[in-house]
Amino acid sequence: MLMTGRTHDLAAVTALAGVLLIEPVAHMSLATLLLALLMNQIGGIAPDIDQPTAPFWRNLPVGGVIGRVIDKLLGGHRFLSHSILGIGLFGVASYWLLMFIHPLMPGVNVPYVWYAFLIGFVSHLVMDTFTKEGVPWLLPIPIKFGIPPLKKLRIATGKTAETFLIFPLMFVVLAWIVLSHYQGIEAFLRHGITK
Ligand SMILES: [Zn+2]
Repeated sequence: MLMTGRTHDLAAVTALAGVLLIEPVAHMSLATLLLALLMNQIGGIAPDIDQPTAPFWRNLPVGGVIGRVIDKLLGGHRFLSHSILGIGLFGVASYWLLMFIHPLMPGVNVPYVWYAFLIGFVSHLVMDTFTKEGVPWLLPIPIKFGIPPLKKLRIATGKTAETFLIFPLMFVVLAWIVLSHYQGIEAFLRHGITK
């Protein structure tokens, strides 16, 4: 079973907000802000590219078909994109892609957008680590890690715990971050957005 895309989307943006608390950004262009938010969300569901039933595939027109092919190849388990190696591969590929399209959008700060993507990506793996299936962080070493280590205590995805505990909890964290830094966020929106 999978965590819902909704949970991963929220986790990605919460992680991004958390990083911005520690490492505030004074200025960025509107294009950078919007693309960073988009890439953060894509990063939040991208690891499920190896999970055929994932929202990542469901949301694409021919995704169902491609997803089923990948399911056959990988056996439907969390695989390469759910590992440190996967972070490296997707990190390199996404940076390369961003640099490739950068000439089309010169006003965009590529590193910011890239970090936003990576933050979303890593947040996904962290969230999955709390689920029963665990995450094979050290692939090709085929051990799945989970928190807590005892499987019984972990979350069954798509079930009550995710809907009524994890999702609301994450929402509270995000709301707390936003509300407790409201003035700073407002100041950023007024003065921090450059051309
Ligand atoms: Zn996943």
